Amino acid sequence: MKSAAFDYVRPGTLEQALQILSERAEGARVLAGGQSLAPALNLRLAAPELLVDIGGLAQFRYIEEGADALRIGALTRHVDVERSEIVARRCPLLSRAIAHVAHPAIRNRGTLGGSLALADPAAELPACMLALDAVIHVAGPGGERRIAARDFFQGVFETALRPGEVLTGVEIGGLGPDRTYGFAELSRRRGDFAIVGLALAARRSSTALSDVRLAFFGVADRPVLARAAASALGAGDMSAARAALATDLKPVSDAQASSAMRLHLAGVLLERAFNETLEASA
Ligand SMILES: Cc1cc2nc3c(=O)[nH]c(=O)nc-3n(C[C@H](O)[C@H](O)[C@H](O)COP(=O)(O)OP(=O)(O)OC[C@H]3O[C@@H](n4cnc5c(N)ncnc54)[C@H](O)[C@@H]3O)c2cc1C
Repeated sequence: MKSAAFDYVRPGTLEQALQILSERAEGARVLAGGQSLAPALNLRLAAPELLVDIGGLAQFRYIEEGADALRIGALTRHVDVERSEIVARRCPLLSRAIAHVAHPAIRNRGTLGGSLALADPAAELPACMLALDAVIHVAGPGGERRIAARDFFQGVFETALRPGEVLTGVEIGGLGPDRTYGFAELSRRRGDFAIVGLALAARRSSTALSDVRLAFFGVADRPVLARAAASALGAGDMSAARAALATDLKPVSDAQASSAMRLHLAGVLLERAFNETLEASA
């Protein structure tokens, strides 16, 4: 199948992109790596009148480290994150998770901003941003906004982005040597979207975890923080943490897995991700 006809523009600056988007807000769609949008066009799940290709805005392809923060531009490709020594050293959760995003050919073109703006509830990177308490930067006709990841993902393919806005990057703060991470995912085949997945971020002080954040994906219409389980894990009680998942999560049922199966898998993944934090500190 082929896409419906559309106009195409490749602005040279963010200002031009925002100008075009504000003029054609209803019929225009941002194009980044095209790894989700191009298939959607070809399947005629989307039929925008105009594609605004922001792929030429090279200033948004960067990975920068600060004293306790990491900043990544929206046009940074998955392969850049995967191969980044800075990410591996400062925020290895992202290095772990990115290897589960699709396949190498898709990671060569797909971008961080595209994955976050798409907001697939079974995607790895939105959950990582939630676990990391990241701040998402957007620019639009009204200026720049900074949106906490917990407020950004609002439903299946729904975000806090307003018409005409472009996601420009993310900032991950609070990094340091006491940070520890775990990541676990179950999918039918490597590279598929998750049936259930978990991104875990915490602080480690001697033997205990604190500031535990458990972001599950594939269980609801958006990534979900399991707060009761995180609290039990901080108290060092894994069986209470597993039991608390029944309070935190009301998983969806679909052709891939029932709600009860997803809840069971969430507990299995919790143990795996927790064990990873132990191995990292051994
Ligand atoms: C076979 C296959 C398997 C896949 N498996 C996975 C997987 O396991 N996990 C996973 O997470 N993803 C998976 N994907 C999806 C894909 O990896 C990502 O959705 C893609 O990389 C998103 O980035 P992109 O730059 O290609 O976005 P695009 O396709 O260009 O855009 C995606 C959406 O985001 C919008 N958008 C893009 N960038 C911006 C921006 N900066 N500001 C505002 N809006 C923007 C676009 O308008 C569009 O609606 C898979 C895709 C395929 C084809």
